[in-house]
Amino acid sequence: MNDYMVRAYAAGGMVRAFAATTGGLCDEARGIHSTTPVASAALGRLMTAGVMMGAMMKDPQDLLTLKIDGNGPMRGILVTADCQGNVKGYPYENLVILPPNDKGKLDVSGALGLGVLSVISDIGLKEPYVGQVQLVSGEIAEDIAYYYANSEQVPSAVGLGVLIDPDSTVHCAGGFIVQLMPGCPEETLSRIEERIGKLDSVTNLLASGKTPEDILTMILGDMDLTFTDRMECRFSCNCSRKRVARALLTLGKTELQNVISDGKPVECGCHFCGKKYSFSTAELEVMLKAAEKKE
Ligand code: ZN
Repeated sequence: MNDYMVRAYAAGGMVRAFAATTGGLCDEARGIHSTTPVASAALGRLMTAGVMMGAMMKDPQDLLTLKIDGNGPMRGILVTADCQGNVKGYPYENLVILPPNDKGKLDVSGALGLGVLSVISDIGLKEPYVGQVQLVSGEIAEDIAYYYANSEQVPSAVGLGVLIDPDSTVHCAGGFIVQLMPGCPEETLSRIEERIGKLDSVTNLLASGKTPEDILTMILGDMDLTFTDRMECRFSCNCSRKRVARALLTLGKTELQNVISDGKPVECGCHFCGKKYSFSTAELEVMLKAAEKKE
């Protein structure tokens, strides 16, 4: 699948909008994490939000992290994205099985339970900016909209969807975010609300062949909609031996010393992409010495 995102504005700049098709990257994540359908849907929705929210940052070094911690069987999800369409994520639990919800859909809200959505923007300042809201529905799109309204005072409409085939692979996925800038007239707002209220689900639209451009046109087509950017997006992990080694060191000296005394090589897997890194006892000793030297 050819995943991409579009950016647009409308109503003379009073409205900005993003839409994405992300079936390929959602299915790649499903394959990496062997997620069950409800977990694939939850992870895919948050990664789709990540692609669009990441694109709102300016610098290629900037990093956006979306984290959900919940009391449901999935326990949570972690997603990170940059502004260039690179996104990665993992579920805390991948094998969640739940009956469908009362609408006959995958019960993402039930999988996540009650909890908190954290939005962490690392834009090169001393401390990353962290915004947090309680989950209002656990269906993710509403939670992202609630985050924008409450933490950033930006009224937003968010749609996210992941359609899973009977063989548990991802059929299609995508979403949109429509945001009102300060000073946006009431009339524009109510028109947008009306359109979105009548809009079919994102997955129905994508499955019937509609593109991200089509979806934004359905919402904003008669409001001087202008597309400004089209960007490919992908599941991408930038892990390396060096990063994994650094993570190993955070175990602490005593723990590392114990591992070395065992005399066996240690294998560490990357949470995001599953890549395995092996460290021999000799390598661990060198790492420990270097860390001690630094102190
Ligand atoms: Zn990785």
